[in-house]
Amino acid sequence: MAYRIPLSYNPIEVNSYTNVLKSYEGVHHNQIVNDFESAIANLTGIPHAVAVNSGTAAIHLALLSLGIGKGDVVLAPTFTYVATINPIIYVGAMPILIDSETETWNMDPGLLENAIKTLRQKGIDPKAIIVVHTYGMPSKMNELLAISEREGIPLIEDAAESLGALYDGKMTGTMGEVGIYSFNNNKAVTTYGGGVLITSNAEVAMKARHFASQAREDRSFYEHKDVGYNYLMSSLNAAMGLSQLPMLDLKNKARRQVFDKYAQQLKDKATFQLDDELRVSNRWLSTILFTESHVKNLIVNQLSDSNIETRPLWKPMHVQPLYQNVSRFLNGNSEDYFNRGLALPSGFSEKGHHEEVIHQVTLSI
Ligand SMILES: *Cc1c(COP(=O)(O)O)cnc(C)c1O
Repeated sequence: MAYRIPLSYNPIEVNSYTNVLKSYEGVHHNQIVNDFESAIANLTGIPHAVAVNSGTAAIHLALLSLGIGKGDVVLAPTFTYVATINPIIYVGAMPILIDSETETWNMDPGLLENAIKTLRQKGIDPKAIIVVHTYGMPSKMNELLAISEREGIPLIEDAAESLGALYDGKMTGTMGEVGIYSFNNNKAVTTYGGGVLITSNAEVAMKARHFASQAREDRSFYEHKDVGYNYLMSSLNAAMGLSQLPMLDLKNKARRQVFDKYAQQLKDKATFQLDDELRVSNRWLSTILFTESHVKNLIVNQLSDSNIETRPLWKPMHVQPLYQNVSRFLNGNSEDYFNRGLALPSGFSEKGHHEEVIHQVTLSI
């Protein structure tokens, strides 16, 4: 079969992984998870980290630990991956979907304000705001945090895709009440399945760990008062994480170089999520908006014929059959991005492949 240039791919780094494993010979394997949690705390400067088996589990735990449950309302972006929204349903709460602004493609602070005002007028008090830094691009955090503070609604950062991205010098994931990262296979760095919840709130961290370990009470026998989950990270995944974290900067730099080349060469044909003086994306995926949707369709087909993987941008949650009945506050942007937008290969090991992708894209327009 012909080689296909993948969208985002982390090759298994066998040497660094086995070196980490060897360093734990004769040590209890739980220590590996503890050390991975410490490494995340060191990297982010946030004191509490709970390592779990997926980013989705981390979002679920964030909601549980903040006490969000049946009948509660949670505000979240419509332009995201489904894993941001599903945990709201897991806890019996109701998502309310908010459309994007045009600079970062993330949650529009103006629409968020409207939503809160409208809900309050109906006597509904939203219990949390989930913010996503989509494709690695930081949201407008100054505006969003100000709303969260003023309205007294805790903010959860779904930084699943944006490890290493900066906003006003701070890492995404570290600015809200709770932050989460994903270490799924295709993310910035990987444990080949995993996630982590970070928080400065010791009580939230304790609750998250409690719910992640079958809600087992601290007794000599097995005692349970709550329904818990089997969500903790395995030692082998944590070892992989320890071997990958030191490569984060290198990988993000390589992805950024790929993006910069696309941006430079396609600047007359497409637009992009833009960094500014406050925000620096980790460029997890190189995402572009073509001037018209037919151009995008043409290019998808051409690139596919050349064995280059591309992906349309998120199909917004409010147009998913799953969430067709959920309340939403819209401005048309996310649907426009779905129609005109495309993610191009950004993977770190594909040295030189972006040249081929750019060549093909340029030929196709
Ligand atoms: C990947 C992702 C998740 C979920 O992470 P998993 O580790 O795959 O469960 C959540 N939110 C966003 C925005 C993601 O991209």
